[in-house]
Amino acid sequence: MVDPRVYQAMTKTVVSHLDPYFFQVVEDCRVLLRQAFGTTNEFTLAMSGTGSAGMQTAIANFVERGSKLAVLANGFFCDRMTEMGKRQGASVVRLEKPWGEAFDEDDVASFLRRERPRVLAFVQAETSTGVYQNSKTICAAAHEVGALVIADCVTSLGTMPVNVDENGIDVAYSCTQKGLSCPPGLSPVTVSPRAMAWLKSRKTTPADWYLDLKLLADYYEGAHRYHHTAPISLFYAMREGLLCIHEEGLQNRWARHKAAHEAFVAGIEAMGLPMLVSPGSRLTSLNTPRVPEGVDDLKVRKSLLAATDMEILGGFGPLAGKVFRVGIMGPLATEEHVLALLAGLEKALAGEGFAPKASGVDAAREIYCAPRLR
Ligand SMILES: *Cc1c(COP(=O)(O)O)cnc(C)c1O
Repeated sequence: MVDPRVYQAMTKTVVSHLDPYFFQVVEDCRVLLRQAFGTTNEFTLAMSGTGSAGMQTAIANFVERGSKLAVLANGFFCDRMTEMGKRQGASVVRLEKPWGEAFDEDDVASFLRRERPRVLAFVQAETSTGVYQNSKTICAAAHEVGALVIADCVTSLGTMPVNVDENGIDVAYSCTQKGLSCPPGLSPVTVSPRAMAWLKSRKTTPADWYLDLKLLADYYEGAHRYHHTAPISLFYAMREGLLCIHEEGLQNRWARHKAAHEAFVAGIEAMGLPMLVSPGSRLTSLNTPRVPEGVDDLKVRKSLLAATDMEILGGFGPLAGKVFRVGIMGPLATEEHVLALLAGLEKALAGEGFAPKASGVDAAREIYCAPRLR
């Protein structure tokens, strides 16, 4: 859900892509993005494009033809990174896990010592499975073998700890339409000084002109040399979305998402739907309850949408038909919305012949009544 304040900001007068006012807006965005990412990285910007543009930026700038890219593969978006790496001409090696499981940090460390890649790429918040990947040890192990670390933070930014600096992530990217509660169209990217130094010394030119960070630095920083026409209104939107986060406070925002997640899980488990992901590795912004045996998930989703205007998604790949994917983020991560969602789901499931074990709404309400969440 896009915050109403963000829609309002988008109605502001459009100025030119070289207007000093636009660069002021960009500067505000950079300051606010650093806060949200948890970094002091000077090089923090937004690519014109959706989250995949951020992914492509990371791969195009930091993965050279013929170099070795290691990917931690346990979901759909790691596969997309693999594909981009191959197209870039990298030799891609993968450590694989079943969809829905997080990586053990020691396993990753020994994989890295064995493979000694130039770059390690992983997904911090895997939207296809609902898995959150802890990464501090992983990043340290990558640095030990001299590798740069790329992390996909598309669904974690603005909803969960990303902590770029604390974790030691070198290149992180995200998007505007998930945790930032803005329309799609921009992809925030932040780059560590270590990665920036490597980029400056890079001998080959990135094959991708549009997402070339050195050219973009010339446009957004210092010289303001024309590169492309930035989508001005989307920058207004992102600044407002980031301001909403800043005013709420990052910690408060994470806590609000955690409370909504815990209430939802209590409700869904009370109804008799187990979660796919084990408790320590769950995203709080994207929940993946299992579809009960014999129930057609598409029918449930369609009747929920028709009856309540609430849309949830299904699983894909190996999880097709097996899980629901329920995003609870931004302005929707509140008691009111979680209870309404559970009530709607209960009805939609009942319509498909599934009898809930207990009331999901009651179980969720109890979580919200617990003193620590008040
Ligand atoms: C949504 C998503 C992307 C791709 O973003 P688009 O905005 O659809 O291009 C990449 N990685 C993850 C983890 C995502 O959830």
